[in-house]
Amino acid sequence: MSQCLTARSIDHVLLERGEVANSWRTERWDSLRLLTPNWQSRLPGFGYEGTDPDGFRTMPETVDFITRYAHAIAAPVEAQTTVTSVRASTEGYSVATDRGDWDCRAVVLAAGACNIAVVPSLASAVPSSIATLTPKAYRNPDQLEPGGVLVVGASATGIQLADEIHRSGRRVTLAVGEHVRAPRTYRGRDIQWWMDAAGVLDERYDEVDDIVRARNLPSLQLVGSLERTTLDLNALTGMGVRLVGRLAGITDGKVQFSGSLRNQCALADLKLARLLDTIDEWATLNGLDGEVGPSHRFEPTSVEASPPLGLDFASGEIRTILCATGFRPDYSWLDIPILDRKGQIRHDGGVVALPGIYLMGMPFLRRRKSSLIDGAGDDARDLSDHLASFLGGRVSATSR
Ligand SMILES: Cc1cc2nc3c(=O)[nH]c(=O)nc-3n(C[C@H](O)[C@H](O)[C@H](O)COP(=O)(O)OP(=O)(O)OC[C@H]3O[C@@H](n4cnc5c(N)ncnc54)[C@H](O)[C@@H]3O)c2cc1C
Repeated sequence: MSQCLTARSIDHVLLERGEVANSWRTERWDSLRLLTPNWQSRLPGFGYEGTDPDGFRTMPETVDFITRYAHAIAAPVEAQTTVTSVRASTEGYSVATDRGDWDCRAVVLAAGACNIAVVPSLASAVPSSIATLTPKAYRNPDQLEPGGVLVVGASATGIQLADEIHRSGRRVTLAVGEHVRAPRTYRGRDIQWWMDAAGVLDERYDEVDDIVRARNLPSLQLVGSLERTTLDLNALTGMGVRLVGRLAGITDGKVQFSGSLRNQCALADLKLARLLDTIDEWATLNGLDGEVGPSHRFEPTSVEASPPLGLDFASGEIRTILCATGFRPDYSWLDIPILDRKGQIRHDGGVVALPGIYLMGMPFLRRRKSSLIDGAGDDARDLSDHLASFLGGRVSATSR
């Protein structure tokens, strides 16, 4: 957004509570690599120029990439500046920070979609003898108590942490709810390449049938690794991770799992087949069938005949519960009436219901790729158009 505003000579400032790329510096586990290939982090006027376009960045490499971009576009960043309130004023908005206040005519809310780890309310019934943890606090398996771990949630974060913790020698049980199965590669190309090329990631928010559902879909079961591994549920059970259904309840020192595991897996297999159908159709239409590998389908997810429906904490089998059940934004610092009854910002593709307020970086904000680094550029171009016409070209930010 800063690059787009500069290109339009719109005076602006970026207020950042930490340093540039703060969430990648401080909120991710040690071994994490991006699950999007290097070529796919395209920012306006800035892409990958190294020798490994199909590789996956580590966290230090991701921080370096974003920091270099901030320098390249001379982004006017005020680091170590936490915004504590945004209020309406006579001229527009008044933004309070722990390092002084700002008056502005427009505000772009780009504070991230993943500020807070979502923890199911029933986790409060976990006995005190069991350690609980979220991916925000998790760094590596050395941090965990010895003994078995229950990982709750089987999207990108849950499957990656289940894999890493299992490899550290602990017994891992994975509670599986709704998930989106995806192979790392298909017909010799990365799945992200296919989704990008076939236009799946460019699908617009005003073109999908059910945008509320699309915005709440779990992340793809993907990992970025040197070996380009597919880390689906079959891979995890193959190495010895035990699958159970969704976490359904915790009472009297026992945890209950839903009986929906088989259905959830069948549904994910079905959706994967649909995605591969779309890819195959696109490949044929675009004359790629001779260039890429043959079309094929993956083994259905294998589920044991009677997965356990409960576990007694007293058995000692589980010593830690790691809730990988998603993230949500933190809007506690907003003093403007833009939240709906569910605490979500009311907006139309990032144009917030209050004039001069814009939103960035949310799942399916304007396109399916909106929550990826790669989606920020197109969204910023669209929203800066709107913002520029709102401002009518006048000066937008002054410090007081
Ligand atoms: C575990 C995980 C893995 C991911 N993997 C990928 C991936 O492989 N590829 C990909 O493209 N995307 C990935 N994403 C999504 C990724 O987070 C987004 O693509 C990208 O970070 C969005 O950038 P952003 O600037 O909108 O949000 P963020 O990167 O979250 O940046 C928001 C910034 O706002 C600051 N901030 C928040 N509140 C305040 C405040 N009150 N005052 C001042 N500053 C504040 C934060 O410090 C932060 O620096 C992943 C996300 C998670 C959680």
